[in-house]
Amino acid sequence: MLPQRQLLRFAAPLRPRKLLVPITPSACRYSIAGLPATPAPESKTFSTPLAKQLTEAIKTTGPIPLAAYMRQCLTSSSGGYYTTHADPFGRRGDFITSPEISQLFGEMLGVWLVTEWMAQGRPKSGVDLIELGPGRGTLMDDVLRTISSFRALTTAIESIHLVEASPTLRQTQASLLCGPSTELSELPSGVFTAVSKHANIPVHWHSSLSTVPAGPSRTPFILAHEFFDALPIHAFESTAQGWRELLVSPAPPTAKPLVIGGAAPEFALTRATQPTPHALLLPELSQRYRALKKSAGSIIEVSPESLTVVEDIAKRIGAGSSGAALIVDYGPLDTVPVNSLRGIRAHRIVSPFERPGEVDVSADVDFHALAERALVASERVEVHGPVEQGAFLLTMGMRERMEQLGKKMNDEEKKRMDTGFNRLVERGPGTMGKIYKVLAIVPERGGKRPVGFGGMAA
Ligand code: SAH
Repeated sequence: MLPQRQLLRFAAPLRPRKLLVPITPSACRYSIAGLPATPAPESKTFSTPLAKQLTEAIKTTGPIPLAAYMRQCLTSSSGGYYTTHADPFGRRGDFITSPEISQLFGEMLGVWLVTEWMAQGRPKSGVDLIELGPGRGTLMDDVLRTISSFRALTTAIESIHLVEASPTLRQTQASLLCGPSTELSELPSGVFTAVSKHANIPVHWHSSLSTVPAGPSRTPFILAHEFFDALPIHAFESTAQGWRELLVSPAPPTAKPLVIGGAAPEFALTRATQPTPHALLLPELSQRYRALKKSAGSIIEVSPESLTVVEDIAKRIGAGSSGAALIVDYGPLDTVPVNSLRGIRAHRIVSPFERPGEVDVSADVDFHALAERALVASERVEVHGPVEQGAFLLTMGMRERMEQLGKKMNDEEKKRMDTGFNRLVERGPGTMGKIYKVLAIVPERGGKRPVGFGGMAA
């Protein structure tokens, strides 16, 4: 039986606020506290090849937008974090994510997809399962295992599409989803394929959502867990002369490490003296930013790439008025993110401006901006949430599922599952259940709420 609870729509009010800005890293990718930081490399002129490349580029072009810096740090073919790190996850990696903490997480997302598929009249064909940034593939594996008990849904799935920037993670995902020695075939379009061990469904790997087939005959069910936080942001500060972009320049030689054990940052943010093209355009996109413009010193972060992706998602769901998207990530409920760029290395917060390419950099997701853009992109979708992860997972029946699984477990296994459960749902300040939020985009249906978006805990 799927959990069916009475639901109330959670509607976060559109409430732009001026945020006071302490220049410190805020809460971030969940780290395993207490692990020692990796010692800084022997002092060299540049900490990484990417640091040298960025410094040379800045010498030629002048300070660069934060988004350009982030893009290089994350996915540059010459030393970007995701393009070069074989496995950033888990105890030996840099950070840990919810699907890696407990199978219950993926199971609840799987249950949500099943309830949506049912609510949409159980389409019998044309269903695509799409995941953005699948990491090790654990979430998709847990989702597929969960929905495998619903044969009619499994047979309706025509393809699994994974959008992944990292060739190494693509191979890791293939090993998990298709079998250990799976060899991928590359199509002329640059898309890779293999066959899933789950019901022989074909799996396709794309480097961007744009190559995933779309159209009115498709029913796309889309998951994005900790994907949007990895998309580049621009930062702007309001001044008496209007918005000014915060740009990345080489740090002064006196720059100190942000944390003990960290390296001295090689780059720093400086405020542009003139309006940049992005400063003229991006802060005009939303009334929320315009309201902040009046208070000098307000800082806003805008991720145009995130807006492009969510626009694509909304159009896909709107095209056939079918499918759904679930976006899970960290970010404020309704305010504009500010000073949220952070670096993570070996489970510690470090400066995002040290050891570029070796440090994971990410930023808070502006859920409200995503919701606004989705609604503008397609009149045929509606958006629910964001709701806090803890509330969402409990409403989906995670406690009941844990109790059911616990019946077949020994005490040690039960304890491990219980620890994972608590980490995912705890809602005290700074806990995962509270920091992480869930947003749903579904076909327009007169505001009828999806399961999990009642803002009510079980
Ligand atoms: N969802 C997974 C992994 C989160 S880490 C989990 O929760 O465990 C971010 C993931 O997004 C990684 O798989 C990374 O390689 C991928 N990624 C980051 N930036 C990307 C981009 N621009 N395009 C495609 N994939 C990207």
